[in-house]
Amino acid sequence: MIKSRSKKYIEYIATGSELLSPGFIETNSSYLAGKLEELGWKLNFKTIVSDRLEEIKLIFQTAQKRSWLIFISGGLGPTEDDRTRQAVAEILKRRLVFHKEILKNIRKRFESRGLTMTPSNRRQAYIIDGATILENPNGTAPGMWLEIRGQIIILLPGPPSELKPMVDNLVFPKLKPFQRRKFLQAVLRITGAGESWIEDRIKLIYSKLPKKMELTTLASPGDVQIRLSMPTGRDEEKDQRKLEEIKKEILNLLENKVYSTDGQLLEQVIGQKLTANKMALACAESCSGGLLANRITNVPGSSNYFLEGLVTYSNRAKVRELGVPEELIKAKGAVSEEVAAAMAKGVREKAGADIGLSTTGIAGPGGGTMEKPVGLVYIGLASSDGVKVERCLFKGQREQIKYQATQKALDMLRLKLMEIEKGR
Ligand code: ATP
Repeated sequence: MIKSRSKKYIEYIATGSELLSPGFIETNSSYLAGKLEELGWKLNFKTIVSDRLEEIKLIFQTAQKRSWLIFISGGLGPTEDDRTRQAVAEILKRRLVFHKEILKNIRKRFESRGLTMTPSNRRQAYIIDGATILENPNGTAPGMWLEIRGQIIILLPGPPSELKPMVDNLVFPKLKPFQRRKFLQAVLRITGAGESWIEDRIKLIYSKLPKKMELTTLASPGDVQIRLSMPTGRDEEKDQRKLEEIKKEILNLLENKVYSTDGQLLEQVIGQKLTANKMALACAESCSGGLLANRITNVPGSSNYFLEGLVTYSNRAKVRELGVPEELIKAKGAVSEEVAAAMAKGVREKAGADIGLSTTGIAGPGGGTMEKPVGLVYIGLASSDGVKVERCLFKGQREQIKYQATQKALDMLRLKLMEIEKGR
């Protein structure tokens, strides 16, 4: 690693005034932090700056003084407010050089879609003198890689759909040689247990960890990650064995709460299990409002096992679409164990699925009572073995409650599929 005494940090600068507006969630930094971790590095700073030239220059100049590795994204587009390349070039005192080849590629990209390139796209063909071009197959703005006296500066496009593949395919292979030591890593993803329960279960592990191994837990509503990482020594195989040993012990302590050890999301895990067992799924959602179907269908290939998802938000829809008896809703309320069961059964029968999943609850912030508070959600699972309903009380804002409801529903499905697999 080319770490010098004065430039010892790694930092990321996100440019774009829209990123500073209320409600915008900046996501590239989290992605980069995860990738850096794979190399055993940590992000020291992240800054979001407007798209004003002077402000980008100010932040970039600060970064240039303190960091050996700088990522700067956004503002590489064709419009007037895309000023990143100019800001960086001015601070580095380098010229912007026109590249015919880049313009040709941009024109081709437009033509392949039956469009004509606008003159403003010419801007994107200007590259900072001395930079290596990082091709962008997913957009028009190419990235740039500069190495100047031991400092690495990487300019990336802002849209995550362009930045991620560029980082994965071009940037990280180029960064790997700067890694001083290899790092081993394992990530265990857990749901259905809180952080304190997990801590309590695994506390004995801490004393068994080799000195150089780091264990961190990362908790968000409905999901906890345990991350193990360690630099390798002379005997890499021995280190790998040790990591596996610790991983196994944690798995034993947490039993079936760990849903993946290879980075897979819960929706991917259930997708694989449904495919392997040749089973079809349908869902009926009330409080989760379609989020469950959305998560299930985010997985490529989900059409192989997902038949349909209904958002039966009103009582009328529950009666009409799922055949939930009107009297049942009147007697028990829409948020009840009985209605969740009838919804799961109803959608399973209607869709001709092997498994029916349902959610009904109070996502808040209003609508709660002493008896049925905000966060109360019933989740139903119907299969050929009958119907099972779980009563859950989630904490958090409306969106977090919706997310946790889907997480729980997917996890109930995962556990059911494990039970089916065991019985076979
Ligand atoms: P282009 O203009 O060619 O699309 P660009 O490199 O100029 O590329 P920007 O215009 O800065 O990119 O960003 C385009 C969009 O990408 C932003 O409006 C925003 O939706 C998204 N985006 C940019 N940076 C980030 C970020 N750090 N995190 C999440 N989304 C981002």
